[in-house]
Amino acid sequence: MKSPREPDLELRGKLIRSLGALREMLPGSFVERKRACGRPNCHCADGKRLHAQYQISVLMDGKPKALHIAVEWAKKVREKIEMRHRFEAAAATICGVNLKRFLKEKEDRQV
Ligand SMILES: [Zn+2]
Repeated sequence: MKSPREPDLELRGKLIRSLGALREMLPGSFVERKRACGRPNCHCADGKRLHAQYQISVLMDGKPKALHIAVEWAKKVREKIEMRHRFEAAAATICGVNLKRFLKEKEDRQV
């Protein structure tokens, strides 16, 4: 006998299995800033070709911090923060599935 398909549970299982790939996620938000370094003979002195500066804004012990990120790390760090967005989206979907099931169970028991 074939068990009935439960698309919600399939989705939940798929999301749960995808979370391991997000283990390197980082908190905070990625900030890219453009700035002039102040050296008069630098290309940035024209005010257009500015230097890119990267930071993560993150709460540490409840206090907002801006952490400087080296240029060669920027791509990786951006990806890790993006992982956390995917993690949070997956968690929200899983909670939605579970809430629906919880409400159904609650209803079934109270009728
Ligand atoms: Zn410069």
